[in-house]
Formats: sequence, C-alpha cells, structure tokens
Amino acid sequence: MDSSTDGGRRRRVLFFPLPYQGHINPMFQLAGLLHARGFAITVFHTCFNAPDASQYPAYEFVPVPDDGGAPAAGDPDTVRTTVGHIRAANQACEAPFRERLASLLERREEDVACLVVDAHLLRLSDVARGLGVPTLALRTGSAACFRCFTAFPELCDKGYYNYQPPQVSSSSQLDLDAPVTELPPYRVRDLPCASPATHGVLQDLISRSVTAVKTSSGLIINTFDALEPDDLASLRRDLGVPVFAVGPLHRLSPAASSSLLRQDRACLHWLDAQAPASVLYVSFGSLASMPAADLAEAAWGIAGSGRPFLWALRPGLALGASPALPDGFEAATRGRGAVVSWAPQEEVLAHPAVGGFWTHCGWNSTLEGVCAGLPMLCRPCFGDQMGNARYVEHVWRVGVTLEGELERGKVETAISALMGAGEPGDGLRRRARELGSRAAECVAVAGSSCISVDKLVHHILSL
Ligand code: UDP
Repeated sequence: MDSSTDGGRRRRVLFFPLPYQGHINPMFQLAGLLHARGFAITVFHTCFNAPDASQYPAYEFVPVPDDGGAPAAGDPDTVRTTVGHIRAANQACEAPFRERLASLLERREEDVACLVVDAHLLRLSDVARGLGVPTLALRTGSAACFRCFTAFPELCDKGYYNYQPPQVSSSSQLDLDAPVTELPPYRVRDLPCASPATHGVLQDLISRSVTAVKTSSGLIINTFDALEPDDLASLRRDLGVPVFAVGPLHRLSPAASSSLLRQDRACLHWLDAQAPASVLYVSFGSLASMPAADLAEAAWGIAGSGRPFLWALRPGLALGASPALPDGFEAATRGRGAVVSWAPQEEVLAHPAVGGFWTHCGWNSTLEGVCAGLPMLCRPCFGDQMGNARYVEHVWRVGVTLEGELERGKVETAISALMGAGEPGDGLRRRARELGSRAAECVAVAGSSCISVDKLVHHILSL
C-alpha cells in the first residue's frame, strides 16, 4: 500500500543510524518497512562503518564525515570505548550534518516528512529540529531498557549505583542480588553498567538519549506488545510522546542485509546435514569481547557437552589471543562442530537443525532468538545485556543465564540443561515455542506491530 503521498507529493523520510551493527540493522529494517509503504528514503551515515549502498539502489545515501574516528580496538572496557565513540561521533557530525541537511532541504524535490534518528544521536536530532525537520527517535533496545534509562536519575539518588572499591569493607558493598524495587524484575546486577569507572560517561549517555526521545515527535521501539506489555504501558503513560512498538523489525521488513561483515553462508549447508534441533548456535554479537581464558573455558565446555555446535567467532572476541581457540579444540570437536567468523544469524536461527542459542543477549539477538522459538543460554557482557538476560530467564522463562566465572564444567552442565531431554530443557523449549508463536502473531495482519506500523505511517504523514 502506498500511503506516503500527501496531495500528490511524495514524502521523504530521512534516517541517521548509530554506526554499530546492532543499531544499523533495525534502522535499515525500519527504512525497508517505510519504503515498502511508498516513502522515499535518504540515509545519512558516518564514514565509520558506512553501509553498503549497493544493497539499496532505491535509497539516497549521504555520507557525513566523522573525522574517521573509530572505537579503539581491543580495549577490554567496551562500555567506555563505545560511549566515548558515540560522544565523538555526535560532535564530529554536527556541523557537516547541518550543512548536508540544509542543502537537501533546499532541493525541495519532495516534502521531507521527518528524520528517524538513533536516540543516541541527540546532537543530530537537535540539528534537524533546528532546521524545522521533526524527529522520531528509534530505540534499538528493549522497552524495559529504556524504562530503566528514564528511571536512572532516581536509581542513582536511591543509591543503587553506590559502588565501593573491593578493598572497602564488604558490609558497605551493594548486594548485587538485591531487587531494584522501583523496576521489577531487575536486580542490582541487571542494571546497565556495573563499574565505577564507567558510571559518569554512562549517566551522560543515558540522560542524552532520554532527552532525544522526550524532545522528539515520537519513540519507535523494536519490541512488541505481548513481549513487554508492562514496560510499554509505563513508557506510554510517562514519556509524553507517542510510542510505536513495531518489532520484531526483522520479521516485518523486506530489507536487504545490512551486515557490515561478510556472512559465511556455507555454514547453512553444514546445518543442512545435521539432525533436527540438535545444534547449539553460539554468538556474542558484534561488540562484546572476553578474556582469552574465558573463551577457552567456553570452548572446552562446548567440547565437553558432546553436542553439535555452530560458533560465530568474530575476530576480536578473544582479548589478546590469536588464534582465539585453545590448542586441541579442533581435534576434540572434529566432525561435530563448525566455526565461522560471522554467520547469517537470522537464517541460522531459523534453520531446523538449530535447537538452542548461546547468546550475549544483545537486544537484536534476543529478539531473533525469541522469534525463532529457541531456548537460550545467556552470557551477558555489558550495557543492556544483563537486563535482557533477566527477562529471558525470569520473565519469559525461555533460557538460563551463566553467571559468575566462566568455567568449563558449568558451561557443560548449562548446555546439557538447555539441549537435553527432560527438564529443564523440555519446559524451556515449550515456552520458547509459545513465545515464538506470539511473535508471529504480532507481525501477522491485524497483529499489534502491524497496527503500530499503520499508526506510525499516519503519524509521519501528520507531522
Ligand atoms: N549477527 C550476524 N552474524 C553474526 C553475529 C551477529 O549477522 O555472526 C547480527 C545479529 O543477527 C544481530 C546483530 O548482528 O542482528 C547483533 O546485534 P545485537 O543487538 O544482538 O548485539 P550487538 O552486536 O549490538 O552487541
């Protein structure tokens, strides 16, 4: 349905993604969705992690110089590195974006309806509004995570972030397992950021993203009503801007792949030869890293489980180890495992041979696992991942979390629990299938997310 014309003039929607894989994917999925509704699309993007324009011949692409800044590779503190880069990108892009947007507006080929901008790009959202372009903020995390962002100042005031260095007496330490009573079902350990060193920068990032949403003409969020009913209700009540839950975007959108790395499709043939629901798929996303010793424990746990596995082992995942996998791992798992550096994850998860997903609980991966109806083994690393894992294990009850030190015996036991016959695997699988069906319902005709997309289209046309 082409719903994007207004008095015969075609409407153009502008996009500006944050240049990380987990933010680029949903932004392009949303662009695909609106393009299918007849909107013309312009994508502004940084030169760092620039998208492959050849995948989208119908879109206009406008590169915005970002000083070539890239996060320092191999920094074990991913939060500090990433947050620093987001700040730098906001600053570096501000002036060139203003110039490019002003020149696009002068062309006046079509009416520009709005800019859909990642909520982490407050400065660019301010630029657009300054030039008279309404903004819609896209949040690529969960509704629960954004609710936590809005509650952040209150949580700080109430002492949830009063970290003490380990040498201070343990009686003054925060109990990491204590419930965050203002924000059930979070515990202290599930809140974004758990280190004193990163608290200040995270606080700034969070407050800017809340401002970007509250000053926008609406929040678009990649989730669905049946998945997070309470968190969405709370955002709708408290935010003061309309909230559109249009996820899972990868299921709704006809978008081409926006993968920044080449996906190794040969692993799909390897999966074809495996028994149904037998394979554990392992991936820690595009940013997380772990000490080489932890990765070795993960590897030996996978080896010891005796299960077939497919591991998307991104270069850079293991800090300071090359090769990443321990000596002897390949020989120990020969014939029942495949390791690739980057997989076509959505297709892998949808493959009938895959029976479980070991994930770092990035929000896209979590949603993709939910849609595939798979039980999940969670090993969150930073940011919103601990909160996502909490929902997987405690609210939806479709997974188990590996907490504390990574140790091969624990890994082996957790994989057996997830993949094995009997409980708890049977219950996890049953609930995961049910949740997958609910995801399918929300993207079907008259499903909640389809209705939300219709409302979003009307909203855009009314801006
Ligand atoms: N992904 C992929 N191939 C891989 C691993 C991940 O295409 O081998 C995709 C995955 O499908 C997801 C995105 O990369 O859409 C990662 O986003 P997520 O929010 O899960 O985690 P992040 O990378 O932001 O930590």
